Amino acid sequence: MTHWKLTMMITLMLVFLLALPAPSALAQDLGDHDVVSFEKTPEMMQLLQRLQLDLLMEKNGRVYAVVGGRDLLRLQQEFIPFAIETQDFPPYSDKHMAVQSGINGQFYSYKEVVAELMNLEQAYPNIVQVVDIGDSLEGRDIYAIKLSDNVTSDEDEAEVVFLGCHHAREWIAVDVPIRMARRLASNYASDSQIQSLLDSSEVWIVPIVNPDGLEYSIYVYRYWRKNRRLNTDGTYGVDLNRNYSYKWGYDNSGSSPNPDSGIYRGTAPFSEPESRAVRDFVQAHDFQVLISFHNYSQIILYPWGYIKALHPQDDQLEYLARNMANRMAQAHGRIYDYGPAGYSLYTTNGDTTDWAIGEEGIPAFTIELPPPNQAHGGFFNDEDDIIPITEENMAAALWLIGWAIDNHGTKAVYGAVEGTGRRTPQPQPNRRK
Ligand SMILES: [Zn+2]
Repeated sequence: MTHWKLTMMITLMLVFLLALPAPSALAQDLGDHDVVSFEKTPEMMQLLQRLQLDLLMEKNGRVYAVVGGRDLLRLQQEFIPFAIETQDFPPYSDKHMAVQSGINGQFYSYKEVVAELMNLEQAYPNIVQVVDIGDSLEGRDIYAIKLSDNVTSDEDEAEVVFLGCHHAREWIAVDVPIRMARRLASNYASDSQIQSLLDSSEVWIVPIVNPDGLEYSIYVYRYWRKNRRLNTDGTYGVDLNRNYSYKWGYDNSGSSPNPDSGIYRGTAPFSEPESRAVRDFVQAHDFQVLISFHNYSQIILYPWGYIKALHPQDDQLEYLARNMANRMAQAHGRIYDYGPAGYSLYTTNGDTTDWAIGEEGIPAFTIELPPPNQAHGGFFNDEDDIIPITEENMAAALWLIGWAIDNHGTKAVYGAVEGTGRRTPQPQPNRRK
């Protein structure tokens, strides 16, 4: 090594070290991935787009992203200034947060969900059936729970499906579907609305599509997003919500060919057992509508996601979204935006909802649960908010089940648009949910 090179290296190391914040923040670096921030300038945004980092949010003129060791190296090689951030962003109200406790507080873990499903089946055998729809990469069972009268027979009734937790760090997207299942089952006998809905429909709920990722997020790294695929380059994870077949890999901004990326789409459509389990399950049924829960953003999204363009049935999709948003607002006053995904948030290709409508003909929605933004907690929901979020989504779900029953046997989605919902402004900044 020449003297010049050595000097350069030492200078670079010093620059890097000086850029680092206090040691307490460093101690939270788990050696796997880290959260860093950049000054938001147009040039920087272009750079970050090219590097395909896993962007989390924008706040106070800075852009935050999750980076792996390889990303850090590239940032240094390209002299891109960044700051390493602590992983515990200021939560909405920190006294109720279960972030740094090492366990997941009131949020459901995989084992807790499985136990709950078995409890429900045992307690309400007439209206509950639990079905194993496939295995995750690490061998965990992926479960669906069916709620209906005459539950063990497949009746000629409207079928509706709710999916939870494609993305590991989105814990509230587990709680909403599993708690909905409990409420539907336990209130069937006493609530005439629920009873009449379940008597005329078959409601299916898959609370955790990505059990391996969820467990990793709970026990190892809170910000984990993908499944736990060991990629050929030694990195981990495929983004399950980029692994569906419709327009898979359409471009490299709506998903990434880079295995280290947070939005890595995998080696082929349905390369992952978790997305295959959803595909096979959906194809074995005749669903009239599909909901996939994520967070955060507090918005109801519908196809298309892969381009900024309206689906031919946009007015019908908007009708369903607006009515759901209205039921949500009536529950606790919280306003969910709604709109076509590509316009409203950012483009995604290979996601669940484009596949559901594009290949299976099923109207499909991604509900990005609260909070609306990072300033209100981002991926961390206040534990006190779990019940209100569940209740408002339950209200939307009940309306949607009623709609499916009313339109069973038809492909019609039309109806009068009512209420005071708010269609999204467009476009919005780039955030990966
Ligand atoms: Zn998500």
